[in-house]
Amino acid sequence: MKILVMNAGSSSLKYQLYEMTGEAVLAHGRVERIGSDSAIVTHEAAGRPELREVKEMLDHNAAVKRVIELLTDSGSGVLGAMGDIDAVGHRVVHGGESFKASTLVTNEVKQEIRRLFDLAPLHNPPAMMGIAAAEANLPNVPQAVVFDTAFHQTMPMETFLYPIPMVLYKRHKIRRYGFHGTSHDYVSAHAAEKIGKPLASLKMVTCHIGNGASCAAILDGKSYDTSMGLTPLEGLMMGTRSGDLDPAIVPFTMAREELTLGEVSSMLNKHSGLQAISGTSSDMREITDAMQEGDKQAKLAFDMYTYRLRKYIGAYAAAMNGIDALVFTAGVGENSIVFRKAVCEGLTFLGIELDERRNAVRSKEARYISSDASRVAVLVVPTNEELLIARDTYRLVNNRSQA
Ligand code: AMP
Repeated sequence: MKILVMNAGSSSLKYQLYEMTGEAVLAHGRVERIGSDSAIVTHEAAGRPELREVKEMLDHNAAVKRVIELLTDSGSGVLGAMGDIDAVGHRVVHGGESFKASTLVTNEVKQEIRRLFDLAPLHNPPAMMGIAAAEANLPNVPQAVVFDTAFHQTMPMETFLYPIPMVLYKRHKIRRYGFHGTSHDYVSAHAAEKIGKPLASLKMVTCHIGNGASCAAILDGKSYDTSMGLTPLEGLMMGTRSGDLDPAIVPFTMAREELTLGEVSSMLNKHSGLQAISGTSSDMREITDAMQEGDKQAKLAFDMYTYRLRKYIGAYAAAMNGIDALVFTAGVGENSIVFRKAVCEGLTFLGIELDERRNAVRSKEARYISSDASRVAVLVVPTNEELLIARDTYRLVNNRSQA
């Protein structure tokens, strides 16, 4: 079965085509700057040279149409015909409380995703555009949606509620939802497999540290708590997002700097985090390079970033009354040796002992970076959200045809 995985942003579309036998990626690519006369398409198919083109693409419909052309083209393609695509899996950021698992797309499902626009105004509308474009271009092909929030729907009330008037939860569903769920799901399952024990028997903290960053406490095989909240702004310090802060800073800054709510919101989302403290970059590679050249601001940004993650790991170890495994994933978590070293060095009280040689190995495979004597297994597990979307889609479509 061939499954097309799509991740639609406001002006972008990323895609991967999977052959589920062997879970091979047949082709992948992205369209950027959708909505302009100079959209950029990058497409790579197995065994073919990479293709790059710039062309007018006014909406997601045009982008999906082009992707299908490229997938079926005799030069760049890997499919004989459009009909070879058996199903499409879409990434949707916010599933609210309505979606506790991935599901096949129906009219009711689309209506519910639209109802959730309020909770994710930047993310859910483009995902809907992606779904509509896929339906228009691939009629009668089953579509599935996989939500970033669904994995965290197992959180109990004491961890997902904010200590604010209950009426806000009842009326507006203001609560912690958490994000990066497909990634936390994928890496926790893989880490348990690598350790060779059932996930349900392990107290685990998974750290998805990329441009956006979140960590999750996994207890009894389920998400028990996670650092992102109602929106992806809460929690860890990120590339350009502040993460946790005193909420009183918002009205205080608005008053002192004469800023609007929108401006403060943009400051916290786009001009904070590593970028704000280092004064130069939101990219961990540049931060660590600058740090090694003696840049004090870069060092401060790095120290704050690792300190804040250490606090969360400690808090989650306390929340679960222990920790058996710590997992790093995503751009920074998978690649930055100095970052993982700095985080783990301050956690020896938990029984975490890093093996420096293992930590320095670069690989695309899941691996231990703790020493054999470490009481806590520390692993790097490369995330693969697209594969999880493909697997969920495959399962849903198979179940449907067996029903
Ligand atoms: P992601 O959002 O998961 O794609 O992660 C992107 C981030 O990963 C970038 O902004 C970089 O800060 C970081 N990153 C990628 N490669 C490296 C590397 N080799 N060393 C340190 N950080 C890296």
